[in-house]
Amino acid sequence: MGMSKPIRKKPKNSTRLLVDESKLNMGNTYSSPPDYYYDIQFMCVDCGIEQKWSAEQQKWWYEEAGGYFFSTAIRCRSCREKERNRKAQSRKTHLEGFHKLGDS
Ligand SMILES: [Zn+2]
Repeated sequence: MGMSKPIRKKPKNSTRLLVDESKLNMGNTYSSPPDYYYDIQFMCVDCGIEQKWSAEQQKWWYEEAGGYFFSTAIRCRSCREKERNRKAQSRKTHLEGFHKLGDS
């Protein structure tokens, strides 16, 4: 028998998911989407931490959540939560301000 061929392992970080074009929110663009989602690295705009936006998360965002195709993740998970809390808080404060005005 000859030598057995080495088994080629796929690198761990090469996740790719097929793009379902029919579910995309492409807006008024004529450009065509890529065939696959890949894990991408980006820097959080708030804290500067390097984050991974996985192919799975992209597929969910673009196809299930209806995210505009040219929008991308800009914040890490914890900063997204902080931002959401901040917005909820300022809305609440705003409303309380109105109530106080109404009472006087
Ligand atoms: Zn962050």
